[in-house]
Amino acid sequence: MERRGRQGDAPAAGEPGPGLEAAQQALAALVPPLRFAVKDGFVGAARLKGFGELARGAIARARAAGAPDTPALQRLAVEADGFDALPLDGRRAALTRIAGGLSALIPVPDELREVARLGRTELGKSRRIAPAAPTSPTARSTPAAPSTPAAPSTPAARTPTPTPTPTASSSSSSSASASPTTTASPPPAPEPWTEAPPPRSPEERAARRKRLATALAELPRVHPATRAQLEERGRTTVEQALEFFPKAYQDRTHVRRVAELRAGDEGIVLGTVKHVRVQRMRNGRPLLKVGVADASGALELVFFNPPPWRLRQFAAGEGLLCSGKVTEGFGRRLQMSQPEVEKLTAGDSASFGRVVPIYAGPADYQHPALRRLVKRLVDEHAPLVVDDLPPEVRARRELLSRAAALHDAHFPPPGTDLALAAERATPAFRRLVFEELFFLQLALALRRRGVRTEPGIAFDASPAVIARALELLPFLLTGAQARALDEIARDMARPEPMNRLLQGDVGSGKTAVAFAAMMVAVRSGHQAALMVPTELLAEQHARTLAGWLAGTGVEVALVAAASRGKGQKETRARVADGTARIAVGTHALLEQDVAFDRLGLVVVDEQHRFGVLQRAKLISKGRRPDVLVMTATPIPRTLALAFYGDLDQSKIGELPPGRTPVATRVYGDSQRRAAYDVARRELEAGQQVYVVYPLVAESEKTDLADATTGAEELRRVFAGHEVGLLHGKMKGDEKQAVMDRFRSGALRVLVATTVIEVGVDVPNASVMIVEHAERFGLSQLHQLRGRVGRGASRSHCLLIAHFKRVGDEARERLHAMEETQDGFEIARVDLRIRGPGELLGTRQSGQKLFEVADLYRDEAILEEAREDAFALVEADPELRRAEHRPAAEALGERWSGRLSLAQIG
Ligand code: ADP
Ligand code: MG
Repeated sequence: MERRGRQGDAPAAGEPGPGLEAAQQALAALVPPLRFAVKDGFVGAARLKGFGELARGAIARARAAGAPDTPALQRLAVEADGFDALPLDGRRAALTRIAGGLSALIPVPDELREVARLGRTELGKSRRIAPAAPTSPTARSTPAAPSTPAAPSTPAARTPTPTPTPTASSSSSSSASASPTTTASPPPAPEPWTEAPPPRSPEERAARRKRLATALAELPRVHPATRAQLEERGRTTVEQALEFFPKAYQDRTHVRRVAELRAGDEGIVLGTVKHVRVQRMRNGRPLLKVGVADASGALELVFFNPPPWRLRQFAAGEGLLCSGKVTEGFGRRLQMSQPEVEKLTAGDSASFGRVVPIYAGPADYQHPALRRLVKRLVDEHAPLVVDDLPPEVRARRELLSRAAALHDAHFPPPGTDLALAAERATPAFRRLVFEELFFLQLALALRRRGVRTEPGIAFDASPAVIARALELLPFLLTGAQARALDEIARDMARPEPMNRLLQGDVGSGKTAVAFAAMMVAVRSGHQAALMVPTELLAEQHARTLAGWLAGTGVEVALVAAASRGKGQKETRARVADGTARIAVGTHALLEQDVAFDRLGLVVVDEQHRFGVLQRAKLISKGRRPDVLVMTATPIPRTLALAFYGDLDQSKIGELPPGRTPVATRVYGDSQRRAAYDVARRELEAGQQVYVVYPLVAESEKTDLADATTGAEELRRVFAGHEVGLLHGKMKGDEKQAVMDRFRSGALRVLVATTVIEVGVDVPNASVMIVEHAERFGLSQLHQLRGRVGRGASRSHCLLIAHFKRVGDEARERLHAMEETQDGFEIARVDLRIRGPGELLGTRQSGQKLFEVADLYRDEAILEEAREDAFALVEADPELRRAEHRPAAEALGERWSGRLSLAQIG
């Protein structure tokens, strides 16, 4: 087909095209066998042979002759595909649908129309799919999905109301010349949208999936510029395009006459461009005025300082839809300033007379074409979307079908609360959110089951062994630590591998718990490995553990980068032959030539910095060792469920005794002297001080410059107290030397350029000053604050912010720090402000974790999805049952890419 017009969209369905007669003739070949089959109450149906094939041929010929690929034709094709395989009792319903479909496409004898009409009434009751007749009262029936109470969806409500034609208001007028019909003819009443019946065979399901995976580039009659708007956003297939959801909606059901508009209204009118004028404002900038009129009156659109494309956008005589706030200009003339405008094309049922979707990105002159394309995809392809959710889940949670949800997400049915739709809180989005979370949980449930069924090590974790380990500690465990250890010990004693997440706020004492677990492994004759993100931390942990183990003969090895030379070689040899029972290290532990004699327990600390692959690599150095993952980033429950749902969870929800809350205050740049006064008082009382500068991603030089000049400045400010500097450019041993001096108390103030030093433990430090606090995330700030408040004296966290540069979000963040010490509360706020990507450190990947779900908003849905997914795997561990197969397939096809993103734990 030729490309028509600039935007090159498809001609409206049913518009006479070349060869339409030939197409009709091809379809008419189906009438005689149909009549034969339906005669006398379908007696002929049993004797109908090869009808499906016949129909497929007829449809192919019709398409070849140029029949537009309308939904009706597609549904007919779907029926034809499955027909020959149908059992006898399924044929009757299929024939009814075919009769209905055919009658929507070509003239058919009365008896066929009658069959279709009766069938609709009957089938509508039994919630079957309605045939594609334009007047079908049961269009959009949603099988297996009772509507949710939030959106009563009587069949009628699901059918779009016939579009009030844009000319309705002006047709009564005698002045035809002012009528927009000169450029915009009334759109045809939209066809009721009907989804196809569920696929009847795996082959059909596969075929339909394949169709949805069609590249947009392969679709006929799509303008490259329109396609590019989707492709730029990574939407290259039909299905991905269907998942490009609107950012907002606009109600265009009520188009008004110009004469009805009053100053102060928000209104939508439809008119014809009368004149286009460019004037100059006093500052020399252009001012564009566009006169628009309908039969009832005229108004003027005003654009201040329009971009070049806008100046060329309008031409007299064009039909234009204008929406915006109405004001009164000179001489009481009605105006709309900076309105949204859309040019109208003949037969454009996507852009007015209904609620229309507004997508992120395109300028308003590009928008109609994009909307028309999406409308076309929704009409032609969405009906064929296969529902992957198990029917029992859909029924239990009262979810719309995926097809219906996709439709409604783009084109909300009448009566939809648009505010809710924009918030993505409608039944359509509920379904889509549920699905997204369900498949994530399904993957986690399967993974967890996979781990469970492998044989692991059953350690001796008897109370005697535990007690022996705890005797080595210089303190008694808190109740919370003891409970967590108890859960870990029980796991370790079992023959299945442990896979557990230990969450605990900063300073809650995770190291001591991990130590006891490592000793369980060691006493059973195995080795343990502790992986941490930085060398400083590795060094600190090795030192701590060695201290607790003094006199026991259990050797701790500090595994550092191989480049460390001879000492490292020796260390590694001791790990490999089992002389060293505990290995502590960074990524270096993953290096090829780090081998263990008998690795039985892997502990990963601050684990959000490691990828799941790294975790797997360390695990592979043993024979299915137990795994304990520790995180100090308090993860809100939703996030933990969403991303570590395959791990069992323990939590330390209490700090060791003697901790004092850290007094937190935000200072403006100009108030830093007050902050320094606090720090000086502490120094004079014998405490120590941290000063942290943020990591400036663009330039490490700037960081360093900031910190270096900062350190010099601080040497003056804190004259008499030694100030040291720690930065990312220093070598490992240089860093350690500075750290040692700070730990020993020789250095009183430690200036650090980055926050790599999470986890450092110097109880005598009681002040944390954070420069450019506005650049840190909440969780980071909380981590930093956790460096102080470990000793008995009152500690301070002083956040210095450059308020001139910060937005509300940063203010909110800093304010939250003043408000609460509770890491979980902070994480919740952080999740709300910044989303999960930031929180989990995956933002660099540049990909969104979720398409529609919002873990902050959708907590309740997540719980439901999780419950259902885990129950499903419990009942049908390999997803073998027929009704679960679509879910299994979808997991592999649609979700695997996104799930790998989620596997960051
Ligand atoms: P985190 O959970 O942040 O890793 P650490 O394990 O570093 O916390 O512990 C923080 C500090 O608290 C350390 O100095 C540690 O020795 C101390 N600590 C841990 N448990 C207890 C306890 N039960 N009683 C007293 N001090 C404890
Ligand atoms: Mg720690």
